Amino acid sequence: MTSGLTAVADALDGARRVAVYCHIRPDADTIGSGLALARVLRTRGAEVSISHPGPALPSGIGRLADAAAFREPIDVADVAVAVDCASSERLGSLEESFLSSPVRVVIDHHATNTGFGTVNLIDPAANSTTELVLAVADALQVPLDAETADCLYAGLVTDTGSFRWTSPTGHIMAARLLGAGAQGRELAQDLLDTHPRGWFTMAAGVLGSARAALDAFGGLGVVYAVCSAADRGTLGWDAAESLIDLLRTADDCEVAALFKEGEPGTWSASLRARSAVDVAAFAREVGGGGHRLAAGYTTRGTADEVVQAFLERV
Ligand code: 5GP
Ligand code: MN
Repeated sequence: MTSGLTAVADALDGARRVAVYCHIRPDADTIGSGLALARVLRTRGAEVSISHPGPALPSGIGRLADAAAFREPIDVADVAVAVDCASSERLGSLEESFLSSPVRVVIDHHATNTGFGTVNLIDPAANSTTELVLAVADALQVPLDAETADCLYAGLVTDTGSFRWTSPTGHIMAARLLGAGAQGRELAQDLLDTHPRGWFTMAAGVLGSARAALDAFGGLGVVYAVCSAADRGTLGWDAAESLIDLLRTADDCEVAALFKEGEPGTWSASLRARSAVDVAAFAREVGGGGHRLAAGYTTRGTADEVVQAFLERV
């Protein structure tokens, strides 16, 4: 196993056929990272496939170049690259395809990443995986065009909560991307400030049913809510993704938890902490992962079972 920027650039330098993989329930960081990396490698003459395991692309990414170009992975790739995936299970139905490649590159910024590639670029200090993809593009000496800048900006603006929790590097990167032609205002509007009107009814119901357990986490408190498949109705699979950002504003709770039903009986739990609790450590204990203040895990059961199991552990 090798690691670092130079190792990744070396692995990609001579690759002719590259399969790029994004994570399950794809967000703008994995999609933006994958699309940008695919553009960079195509500029250098490589044949590149870009794939995600579903359930569908997230809403708001229609402005990104090549967003319609997702397909099955190239059959016999020289190099497979996973972007923004903390573990190989995050590749869902594509895990086996990724693991069958002899050279496996992992580019990621999750602290819980154990380095499941043969070559790894893992930097928990990076604001987004797109920040690491920009470093790879620079190492490969590919000039930044406006379309690639859009893809990189999409991951940066969403993973930093509109720059609320970015390090200085994120602002410097944003300045560079905007200078290269990224459509910052339009991307923020598409990705963060656009909902179907049915979303208001769903959001009101889910947030209106939020409960708190103030004795959880040693008395720091948790606020939690459930969004079942029925609550989501005909809205897209990712319609509830942003609700955790409203839930975590509860002024008397350190932690927020949102349980989102995907396939009936299967739940994605989103966890956020203000500052004192390491929710990635908690998520890891139950088979998930993430960052110290933003993590998640996947579980099965009825809504009541999933919430009870959570409350018993906290
Ligand atoms: P979100 O709550 O936005 O879905 O995810 C927050 C963070 O937790 C992300 O960095 C994501 O990678 C991680 N995460 C969410 N769900 C899972 C999961 O089921 N497994 C793992 N390993 N990480 C997850
Ligand atoms: Mn990310």
